Amino acid sequence: MQWETVIGLEVHVQLATQSKIFSGASTAFGAEPNTQACAVDLGLPGVLPVLNEGAVAMAVQFGLAIDAEIPETSLFERKNYFYPDLPKGYQTSQMAQPIIGKGEVELVLDETERKTVRIHHAHLEEDAGKSLHEDFHGMSGIDLNRAGTPLLEIVSEPDMRSAREAVAYIRAIHAIVTYLGISDGNMAEGSMRCDVNVSVRPKGQEAFGTRAEIKNVNSFRFVERAIEFEVERQIELIEDGGKVVQETRLYDPDLDETRSMRTKEEANDYRYFPCPDLLPIMLDSAYIEHQRTTLPELPTEKRNRFESDLGLSAYDAGVLSATRPTAEYFEAVLAVCGDAKQAANWVQGELSAHLNRENIDIKNSPVTPEQLGGLISRVLDDTINGKAAKQVFAALWNNDGQSADEIIDAQGLKQVTDTGAIEAMIDQVIADNPVQVAQYREADEAKRGKMIGFFVGQVMKASRGTANPQQVNGVLKQKLDEA
Ligand code: ADP
Ligand code: MG
Repeated sequence: MQWETVIGLEVHVQLATQSKIFSGASTAFGAEPNTQACAVDLGLPGVLPVLNEGAVAMAVQFGLAIDAEIPETSLFERKNYFYPDLPKGYQTSQMAQPIIGKGEVELVLDETERKTVRIHHAHLEEDAGKSLHEDFHGMSGIDLNRAGTPLLEIVSEPDMRSAREAVAYIRAIHAIVTYLGISDGNMAEGSMRCDVNVSVRPKGQEAFGTRAEIKNVNSFRFVERAIEFEVERQIELIEDGGKVVQETRLYDPDLDETRSMRTKEEANDYRYFPCPDLLPIMLDSAYIEHQRTTLPELPTEKRNRFESDLGLSAYDAGVLSATRPTAEYFEAVLAVCGDAKQAANWVQGELSAHLNRENIDIKNSPVTPEQLGGLISRVLDDTINGKAAKQVFAALWNNDGQSADEIIDAQGLKQVTDTGAIEAMIDQVIADNPVQVAQYREADEAKRGKMIGFFVGQVMKASRGTANPQQVNGVLKQKLDEA
């Protein structure tokens, strides 16, 4: 039987506000346990939550970015459950009336294939604390620093049909939130966590199969692996006469498998009810329009513009718009040198290679976009040749802020285009290599084509790499062929 995979994702994005969603407590990753916990997070009696307006603004910006319905009124509700990292006994969240309604996200699957995924809704909620199992023998520690941190939970429709589409979707969400600057999107630090809902159905069947939910997957690769494992597990189970049960599973990266955590029967009954302490959120159109004015150019817009206005290939446009720092770097280089194709080649070529080799983020590149743009300008106006350009780049990488021009001067890399100087070097090389010259002149045209490389190499060496290679080629051919 042919099977089709169906995937829906719930992505939790930690919002980059400086303070928690219902208290003034500050939030920063990596602080000493419980130094950022406060009375509201601890659920002490008598405390009252106050909504952080920054979190509302960020949620609205996300809603605008995915072209979503933004209802006038939304509500907070209490989701009741007991867990050690939630001393209050409830999580303040939204269910019946979330802040962001239906929207859509465009996925780029490859150079020609795109797909739209519908967003069911997105809602605001507070994060819980963290249980620490490693440092305590026979006990668990509780760190409440994360409790009360604002989360935006983005819930998709079950529109994805493969692990590849699911990963493309998460990448698209990641790009949107990081472009907006509403989250750092750091999956390793838990700023973006995914619950992956997976089911399978016979190809052609309309009704969805029973799904399993894999909780808290925290890297692109793990999302892909977890889905692949889970799909295979479900198909085998059904083909062996079994039935998929609706349950929550976890993905174990060490064993590369998913395991059951709890089945539907053991699922919590959250007894949602409207939070009596928080007022409804009312958003008027002036507020929403104001938020719209703060939006930057978004990843899909940028990608389209790189293709249509700058004439970049679909591939280049995709790579260069993938993250905001990369796009900003590229655009800054372009602003200096004015040539999109060259700027694209250098950012994806020499610069990326150096950054990857030393595992440096483009934001911290030792070569600034101004320096790289300056270097490219000197290639474009023929001041230096391609070989010298790589040498200049290496010098920029290691130097302390000199410009490309300063390095070109200091190292004497200016390209020699003076025909007289080039002819003199060529005459010298011909005089110094009589045996090779004789062989060349006896050879037929095809062989000559290969043999000329030797002479070009000698002249380039004599010029310490600064001669214009095209010119050397032309003059050499003329002189060698003439006798
Ligand atoms: P819950 O309230 O249990 O979280 P929802 O109906 O809100 O369930 O769905 C949660 C997520 O599961 C959504 O992203 C949705 O697209 C996805 N989903 C629902 N049904 C299926 C299914 N049969 N297969 C795969 N994903 C599904
Ligand atoms: Mg769910």
